[in-house]
Amino acid sequence: MKDATRAVRSGLTPAVAGTALQQGPVFASTFHTPGSGANAPYSYGCAGQPTWTALETAIAQLEVHFGSPAAQVRVYASGSAAMSAVMGSLLKAGDTIVLQDGAYFGTRHLLQEFFVPMGVSVRLLSWKQLTDPHALAGARLVWAETPGNPGHEIVDIAAVAAVAHSVGALLAVDNTTACPLSQKPLELGADVSVCSNSKAMCGHNDLLLGHVAVRDEELAQKLGRYRGSMGAIAGPMEAWLALRSLATLPLRLDRMSTNALALAKFLQTRQEVTAVLYPGLESHPDHALAVQQMTYFGPVLGFTLRNQQAAGNFLTRCTLVTEATSFGGMTTTAERRGRWGHDPVAPGFIRLSAGCEDIEDLLNDLGQALDSLA
Ligand SMILES: *Cc1c(COP(=O)(O)O)cnc(C)c1O
Repeated sequence: MKDATRAVRSGLTPAVAGTALQQGPVFASTFHTPGSGANAPYSYGCAGQPTWTALETAIAQLEVHFGSPAAQVRVYASGSAAMSAVMGSLLKAGDTIVLQDGAYFGTRHLLQEFFVPMGVSVRLLSWKQLTDPHALAGARLVWAETPGNPGHEIVDIAAVAAVAHSVGALLAVDNTTACPLSQKPLELGADVSVCSNSKAMCGHNDLLLGHVAVRDEELAQKLGRYRGSMGAIAGPMEAWLALRSLATLPLRLDRMSTNALALAKFLQTRQEVTAVLYPGLESHPDHALAVQQMTYFGPVLGFTLRNQQAAGNFLTRCTLVTEATSFGGMTTTAERRGRWGHDPVAPGFIRLSAGCEDIEDLLNDLGQALDSLA
């Protein structure tokens, strides 16, 4: 069965006469646990609850190919909570984590501010160095992110997994930008697949959520205990909204990716634009690898205008591009990425997340905004 079919039907309940097709959110902190309580599937909401289970079951299907060995999924209150759970479950004082230097700024901060003082060493490497066994030697965990954001570096997950395993390290992939419908790190050899569902996965700019997928049963149990102990708990309403959003993921991702490619190609033709970054463009240095490991190239593209002022004017002039951080929502958004100081980007660099609007309207809007820069 194809991924899109599985995603669309993922929230469906078993066909029991008279019951609802889709299950609603279960709001409960406490569940009936008579006697020893041992036979109750749920006891207290910190350990597990039915809406999580429904969502975890649905996401687990998307993390692996149909018919392939199952993945175990744990959902968290955010992508950051999911990342913390992986690091907290796998790292102890004296361990080294290799971190791709172009990784999400929040990943770098999380490690530097909270894990380094506890005795974890962070080795920052460029995405190219991740396939060098000497560079990975001694690491307990390798943390890769592909496509990188906002740099759009494409990491060869299978190659990095092989090298990481050869030196005794585990590989975790931050799969947020691609999302599991497009890219399946576990199938490419990664041990851990992490995703912020606050982005394209849920896609409506209305909730924060994250998840971790692994195949190792023991690690899955530990990730679940970490969640309960740290209390990084997803609310049932968010979990339910996420489950509802999954059914439209194939439609959204398909449309967003088509729009993003059309916009990237258009931007390439404009003399106001000095560079365009998108894995779907043949001009991307790792386009072939992106084709190999991704099903959709996703909503996010980057392009550079002459300077900060040109970028500011462009964003002010656009009427269908909402100025906002984050990405992956139904509506087209963009920002001058350099405004935060998080990433080493040019002052005129814009990160744009293509939404699901009609492409003709988007092209017209970007066109008139670029015209106005002349
Ligand atoms: C947003 C993001 C995260 C963090 O997710 P939150 O849900 O915002 O906590 C992690 N990794 C990447 C690549 C992201 O874009």
